[in-house]
Amino acid sequence: MSDCIFCKIARKELKSTIVLETEKLVAIKDINPQAPTHVLILPRAHYSTLNDCDDRELLADMLDAAKKIARDLGLERRGYRTVINTNSEGGQTVFHLHMHFMGGKPLAGRMG
Ligand code: AMP
Ligand code: ZN
Repeated sequence: MSDCIFCKIARKELKSTIVLETEKLVAIKDINPQAPTHVLILPRAHYSTLNDCDDRELLADMLDAAKKIARDLGLERRGYRTVINTNSEGGQTVFHLHMHFMGGKPLAGRMG
């Protein structure tokens, strides 16, 4: 989508700090980090929300990317959190499917 901020980031028309790139995915540092490590894993293809994505392989790739990032950053054993916010009550603000990867400190046990 031409006016989508994450599509622009994936096409490198907008600046970002890339942590991992694959054929189908880009992982970038969140511009407003909520934890010492806060990465966003986004498909290159545009899906507005999780509800719009039926590509099971792509969704599995997103989880694999999270595991790789955890290994690369030494967070595999310490732990980390993966979150996909969906629509307004889920707290989604950017309508291009993405998974948050957070870690680097003990995260609050409570969610929501
Ligand atoms: P969500 O609320 O789940 O839609 O998450 C959107 C996330 O995108 C937020 O954590 C923002 O801080 C982050 N974000 C917004 N614009 C950018 C950007 N240009 N580069 C990196 N992260 C961004
Ligand atoms: Zn997009």
